[in-house]
Amino acid sequence: MSDKQFAVIGLGRFGLSVCKELQTSGAQVLAVDINEERVKEAASFVSQAIVANCTNEDTVAELRLDEYDMVMVSIGADVNASILTTLVVKETGTKAVWVKANDKFHAKILTKIGADHIILPERDMGIRIARKMLDKRVLEFIDLGSGLAMTEIVIGHKLLGKTLSDLNLCKNPDVQVLGFKRGPNLVKAPELGKKLEIGDVIIVAGPKDTLARKLCSM
Ligand code: ATP
Repeated sequence: MSDKQFAVIGLGRFGLSVCKELQTSGAQVLAVDINEERVKEAASFVSQAIVANCTNEDTVAELRLDEYDMVMVSIGADVNASILTTLVVKETGTKAVWVKANDKFHAKILTKIGADHIILPERDMGIRIARKMLDKRVLEFIDLGSGLAMTEIVIGHKLLGKTLSDLNLCKNPDVQVLGFKRGPNLVKAPELGKKLEIGDVIIVAGPKDTLARKLCSM
């Protein structure tokens, strides 16, 4: 259970699903939107839901967003409102502001005004889906930013009996094996000589391009 506090501004499909996931994971969630109907919808499952125009400095100051661990701005259609809200939220001294962008130009402006992390949902999801399409053994491919990624690979018949050190992926000096999951157990910092079994899930991190290339040749 987490007792982290998050605020989500903009309750479209994206914002609402972020709220739901955070709340069901045990976090405290404040959901904010200018639209009363959207706020009513969120109010049925978040800790607190408020109607507010977040481009207004005084209104945002009253939300005390500086007390939250992270603020997500997920306003899509109205780019002006997204940019202004990000600016106003940043000025409250909030610890971290993550913002959903529509395209790379929107993302560029958000970066310039100090957004701490930009999400391009269609692009990010497209990359993850393509990775899964290329290799069904890849359970997850998570972009860590700065050209780095983390992925999970499930061991099938082809790699049965091999050791971690037999895998080209793990031999690469830029790739770090973080651990692997065997049944319900997490094996942290495993020995490279350990024999792999069907169903083991290896968790590795490293440069995105290296991971993609090595996975294709496994
Ligand atoms: P999706 O539905 O896929 O998430 P989207 O981000 O384009 O797409 P919108 O319908 O634009 O979805 O959702 C953005 C939300 O942001 C809307 O509910 C809208 O009312 C809200 N919003 C827009 N301007 C403001 C503002 N100034 N302050 C607070 N909320 C706002």
